[in-house]
Amino acid sequence: MSAVLEIDLEAIVENWRALAARHSAPTAGVIKADAYGLGAAQVAPKLLAAGCEHFFTAHLHEALAVRPLLPGVLLAVLNGIEPGEAAAFSEQNITPVLGSLREIALWRAEAARRARVLPAIVHIDTGMARLGLSAPELAALREDAALLAGLRVDYVMTHLVSADTPESALNPRQAAAFFAAARQFPGAKTSFANSSGLFLGPAFRSDLARPGAALYGLNPTPGRENPMRRAVRLTAPILQIHEVPPGGTVGYGGSWTAARPSRIATLGVGYADGYHRSLSNRATARFDGNPVPLVGRVSMDLTTFDVTDTPAMPGDLLELIGPGHAADALGAEAGTNGYEILTSLGRRYRRRYLGA
Ligand SMILES: *Cc1c(COP(=O)(O)O)cnc(C)c1O
Repeated sequence: MSAVLEIDLEAIVENWRALAARHSAPTAGVIKADAYGLGAAQVAPKLLAAGCEHFFTAHLHEALAVRPLLPGVLLAVLNGIEPGEAAAFSEQNITPVLGSLREIALWRAEAARRARVLPAIVHIDTGMARLGLSAPELAALREDAALLAGLRVDYVMTHLVSADTPESALNPRQAAAFFAAARQFPGAKTSFANSSGLFLGPAFRSDLARPGAALYGLNPTPGRENPMRRAVRLTAPILQIHEVPPGGTVGYGGSWTAARPSRIATLGVGYADGYHRSLSNRATARFDGNPVPLVGRVSMDLTTFDVTDTPAMPGDLLELIGPGHAADALGAEAGTNGYEILTSLGRRYRRRYLGA
């Protein structure tokens, strides 16, 4: 028996449809990091069948892996192009998101080499300071049209810094800077909102939204009720139950001591499975819908829960992520967010795809 990770593809498709309806404009599927850990090979064809025609990965190799599953639709690489990658991009018709003059030069050289016009997305930095053209680089493009020779800029895009904080002054500031800079590329469409950006209102609408997290059921409106359908359930069977007397300790370092006669359930899930060690003495699981606390340290392959107040028996299931305890909530217990929980989900779980 082993832990089972259930991934609901129908929920992911329904979430995409709901986000596209909310945007009332084209809406992409962001499938980087193996579709946030849930399986790009399973997720991408479902989104395609539902009508999604634009996909983003972070790396070229991620795009190459899904290209055969996504024929004929826009497939773009957010992290852009590196030396040596141009031929693979153009051969597979994968669009680089160009975020520097250096990347533009690499892609322009490929267009010249092939004597072809190549599609491009231009990333404009409006405050993240990670990727994207700076103001001086935008000025350089204005002054010298030849820098984009052989390239067709299909979209200009930027990325929101604080989309999950609707009251942040950064949001309208980025919108103003982005749509002003976009005017420099008159033939190009715009791409702006991520998941949370879709909930910020009409000023954040563009020609192509780029949600990721909300597709996979994470809450795009933190602090408010989650409007998305949950897509992940992780359960694990109890391997053993130990009777621990008052004063007895549990796990490495003896970081938890029983204050009463306790029943301690051991699960075969640990930090090697992405069940973070920072959850030690902090997380909760669910038995029959009721919370049971994690006690002691999370170890590599095992975790222990106090089931004293339940009738749980060896072989019974505890729910680690699910309806009663979303990935967002587990992320909060781990001192991180739901994104990191999903993208850390281990390779040792038995995966079951619903709606495959
Ligand atoms: C990851 C990413 C997205 C998707 O963001 P979510 O918050 O998961 O919706 C969109 N755009 C860019 C540039 C990204 O890196």
